[in-house]
This record gives sequence, C-alpha cells and structure tokens, in this order.
Amino acid sequence: MKTVFGDGVTKEDFEYLLQLVKRETFKKREWVKRDALLRGDGALVEFIGQAYDSNVLTFIGKGWEEDRCELCECDLTLGCVGMTSDGRNWFCISCYETLRGVS
Ligand SMILES: [Zn+2]
Repeated sequence: MKTVFGDGVTKEDFEYLLQLVKRETFKKREWVKRDALLRGDGALVEFIGQAYDSNVLTFIGKGWEEDRCELCECDLTLGCVGMTSDGRNWFCISCYETLRGVS
C-alpha cells in the first residue's frame, strides 16, 4: 500500500485521524487566515477566543497564515481548498478521500 503520510505522522496518528473523519462531519471549505497570538519567543498560538494576558501575548489579526494537512502535511494557505470539520483540523482533498475510503 502506497503511503501518503507526512514524516511526523505515525500509525497511531493515522488511526486517530481515521476515527476523526468517521466521527465528525467534514465540509469542503476555502482556507482563510485566522487570528493569532504571538508569544514572546516568536511562536504563534491560534486565537480562538480564549482569555490571554496581553503582557505576555500580542494579538495579531489574521496572523495565522497557514495550516498543514493533518495527514500528508502539505501546506494549506490562502486560496487553498480543503476539508475541515471545525475550521482548525484540515485535510487536503486527496487525503480526506483516502481516509473516507479506508473501512
Ligand atoms: Zn493531505
């Protein structure tokens, strides 16, 4: 069987993603930038409405500029179309179809 996994995706991850696809309703959506919080060390944290300390984190509107497909880890950026259930977990179309096709 040809593997499409990204380097960081283990067999356990694959099983988890398989269950995720079975459990949740995914819709085809265009990827859009989301708000983010910038940490002092330069790392970005996604802003999902959580309370934060503005002395520690800086709000950056539309600062979250890319995601990766949970399975093959290809980049999903502005203008890409992918599959998502909650706007945070994303698959590229081909990985979603792969997961849907595994029974
Ligand atoms: Zn993919």
